Amino acid sequence: MAASNGRRVSYFYDAEIGNFHYGQGHPMKPHRVRMTHNLVVNYGLYRMMEVFRPKPVNAALLTRFHSDDYVNFLKIITPDNMHEYLRQLQRFNVGEDCPVFDGLFEFCQLYTSGSIGGAVRLNQQWSDVVINWAGGLHHAKKSEASGFCYVNDCVLGILELLKRHQRVLYIDIDIHHGDGVEEAFYTTNRVMTVSFHKFGEYFPGTGDVHDVGYDAGKNYAINFPLHDGMDDASFKSVFEPVIGKIMERFAPGAVVLQCGADSLSGDRLGCFNLSLRGHADCVKYVMGFGVPMLVLGGGGYTLRNVPRVWTYETSVLLGTEIKDVLPYNDYFEYYGPDYRLHMPVSNMENLNSKEYLQHVKAQLFSVLDDVEPVPGVQIKSGDASAMDTSADNAAAAPAAAAAAPVAAAVQEASESVSQAEAMDTNPDQRGTTDNKEHPAEFFPSGAEGGGAPAAPPS
Ligand SMILES: [Zn+2]
Repeated sequence: MAASNGRRVSYFYDAEIGNFHYGQGHPMKPHRVRMTHNLVVNYGLYRMMEVFRPKPVNAALLTRFHSDDYVNFLKIITPDNMHEYLRQLQRFNVGEDCPVFDGLFEFCQLYTSGSIGGAVRLNQQWSDVVINWAGGLHHAKKSEASGFCYVNDCVLGILELLKRHQRVLYIDIDIHHGDGVEEAFYTTNRVMTVSFHKFGEYFPGTGDVHDVGYDAGKNYAINFPLHDGMDDASFKSVFEPVIGKIMERFAPGAVVLQCGADSLSGDRLGCFNLSLRGHADCVKYVMGFGVPMLVLGGGGYTLRNVPRVWTYETSVLLGTEIKDVLPYNDYFEYYGPDYRLHMPVSNMENLNSKEYLQHVKAQLFSVLDDVEPVPGVQIKSGDASAMDTSADNAAAAPAAAAAAPVAAAVQEASESVSQAEAMDTNPDQRGTTDNKEHPAEFFPSGAEGGGAPAAPPS
């Protein structure tokens, strides 16, 4: 099956996702993914792509990035027993922004399985583009929940892609800085992270233009800090040149695009002024490079607008036009009074002057000029610089420990997840490896130059 543009597009969705609740009054509503799916179906877009229900990944897979004790905690914590875990709740930052709710671990499994399963499909070259609107939870840290995110499916998807691709590009257009992903890959040159976000007295507070990566990862973290009121023209004026230059210098084998919808005009938590077209133009531009792409959701807190933009972006990825008049769907009443796909932007002031945008763009261009045009990133057998960094320079590089997952992914390269494992909708068919212990294998002797098999399988 191919889309109008000839691309093979796959779409991951699990009908359960909309049944999870963060709690009354919480701005993050998984229901928006169900609303998106319903609109996608009622526009008939499902006919142009392959639709998969992901098989939930097991806990051991999550520990490719997250710590064992954190994953175990997510598995056992429930609203009923949380009073017995006060110390851990604090330690893992679970409770307030990231509440404990019924089915929390299952929720994490569902949204993450689409991203990992999607990466597997791209690796196998079964798909050119994979969409997982339930994913994109970019704030989660190795041992900490953050900003409504518990498990970082972006990081886990990238780790899967690194099994096949020497270089992976992560692009983040959520209004918030993609801090969890940046931190995970801060010391490696195999993943470039680029984030366009509101900066200055705004969550999570990181993402300064001068934060460019560390050690081997220096110049491989790109941050474009922005002010309130970003509109379509301003966004395009920086997004396209920066991404264009990155594609040229970094030449990634795969791209992960986080499409947080809180950068849209009128978002409950956001302060940008993008239209659906402005947001989707980023997707279209990246798609134009023809590189395998994993497209994820993310933030988005004005419930009626999130399905609008993600549905529209699904159509863009399929290379097809959809009508502005919304088809009847299960959530039609949300879209009044206009019942149209596109929505007007506001007249808010754009605090990003042309001069400011030009200045930051020039700063980032000079960082990118220092990136090897054809990166010499072939990892030699026994090259374990990332591991050395985490051991010796932890104080100098707080994010350096996060390089370990990259090394782990490289180490695991020979045991790639089979399609069946990632996509099988019958969980009983496979043996569980949830309790698999792996104290040593994630920190292989390669750290001492022992020669861990490092090259990804071709
Ligand atoms: Zn966000």
